[in-house]
Amino acid sequence: MAEIIPGLTTCSICDRAIEDGDIIVATTAFIENDQDRFAPYHDSAMHQECFQKWSMRERFVRRFNLEMRKMVRADGTYQEMRSDGSIEIKTRPNP
Ligand SMILES: [Zn+2]
Repeated sequence: MAEIIPGLTTCSICDRAIEDGDIIVATTAFIENDQDRFAPYHDSAMHQECFQKWSMRERFVRRFNLEMRKMVRADGTYQEMRSDGSIEIKTRPNP
């Protein structure tokens, strides 16, 4: 998960600082190619308000969830993002 330092870390959508107490969406690293159009938004933090209004939100959530399904942890859990940017920990059903 992206490291967040209130007052210093900036929102990857609006570029303003994330302040203590802001409701945020934080993403884990999941993109290898830095030319990827979603590269600025992975391993980052965004104000939830910005995220909700973001034109790329739905595509980002789909992409995030697609990549996370490939990153299942040893205990069978993986992250799934809801459309509001919150993260749910899911468990892969046993094969
Ligand atoms: Zn913002």
